[in-house]
Amino acid sequence: MLTLTGARAIVIDERTETSGDLQVVDGVVSEVPAPGAERLDVDGCVVTPGLVNAHHHLLQTAFRTLPGTRAVPMATWLPTMAAAYAQAGVDGELSSVAAAAGLAEALLCGVTTVADHHLTWPSDAERSLDIALGTVRAAELLGARLVFVRGSARDDPQVAATSAALLAESIEQSAMLQLAVGPAGVHSDGPETFRLLGEVAQRYGLRRRTQANEQVDVAIAQERYGRRPLDLLDDWGWLAPDVTLAHLCGVTDDEIARIAASGASATHAPGCDLPMGWGVAPVARLLDSGVRVGLGTSGGGSNDAGHLLADARLALQVAPLVGRPVSAREALALATSGSAAGLGRPELGHLRPGASADLCVWDVSGVADAGVADPVAGLLWASPGRRPRHVVVAGRVVVRDYVLQTADESAVVQDLRRRVGR
Ligand SMILES: [Zn+2]
Repeated sequence: MLTLTGARAIVIDERTETSGDLQVVDGVVSEVPAPGAERLDVDGCVVTPGLVNAHHHLLQTAFRTLPGTRAVPMATWLPTMAAAYAQAGVDGELSSVAAAAGLAEALLCGVTTVADHHLTWPSDAERSLDIALGTVRAAELLGARLVFVRGSARDDPQVAATSAALLAESIEQSAMLQLAVGPAGVHSDGPETFRLLGEVAQRYGLRRRTQANEQVDVAIAQERYGRRPLDLLDDWGWLAPDVTLAHLCGVTDDEIARIAASGASATHAPGCDLPMGWGVAPVARLLDSGVRVGLGTSGGGSNDAGHLLADARLALQVAPLVGRPVSAREALALATSGSAAGLGRPELGHLRPGASADLCVWDVSGVADAGVADPVAGLLWASPGRRPRHVVVAGRVVVRDYVLQTADESAVVQDLRRRVGR
């Protein structure tokens, strides 16, 4: 039980803002205070829903700024990263220490839910469970909400499907832990993988996620099939309401209309695609055509920070170049309710009564916010790289006064350093 008192502004959702107090009872936002609730002083702060990172590759947290991975075409980047994974040896321990670092960083940046699209798997289904459990346990320890996506990148289709089913049978899903499936894209996996993972999704009621229209995806779709990636996904049954498409760089108006008509959702990842030169999604055109758009950082191999608010700021800055400008509130909605919609999680990404009490408290009293007329818009426009003072997940304070409460931050760093030597 928690009572937040004295907020300068509380962003309830895209349309509603208030100020003053917010009540949390039994992990959800409540209209009435609970007797004996802990008081969290948020005097003069802005409260927002917790941020939802709809597209991360947590394993890559252990592989940031590697030589040969900056400013290179994706066709060079992919084998360079693959060689680094092979050298490190991807196992349950690496998945655990990388996820712990990535998730601790997420919480400290105000990201309360992370969708981890894991793409690096062993050739047998049994060992894949160790990798999934490494990530799952890190999330449990840190108190982060996790969506673990059993991805595939050139995996044997049958092994990928057997492994996805094993994960669904072995890992108990809850409000804190959701499973999903998703091939990396048509550039890496063929129709058989999409079909088999789609069957697993249907059998276990999992959502489907994939990536589309980055540089290499478009090139390989053309070369291998003479088609555009979205044509293939449509043919393969992957333009549907339970599917979220990450990246969507350079989609045409016709493709946007098809995505909108299909009910599929999108994840914008400008913090990866722009610096790498892999394209940019026309975010306002997607929004204006009715597509639900979330925001993701993508992984540490291409975007070395898991700082979703920084990428919301980048989305704001680049939007005018690919359509119309978006407002700070639209960009914040990408990182909250837009991402939650793509995960099929209507209880996340807003603070209406009954919502999961995932929230951030942003102190806007410092010099970086001095002179700011609109403190909610200022969250994005002012103070790049800002971090929240407090972060709450399911009613639990996981970051207090900028300090992680659920683990020793330096121990998380040391564990990763011991495993990968950096
Ligand atoms: Zn990605």
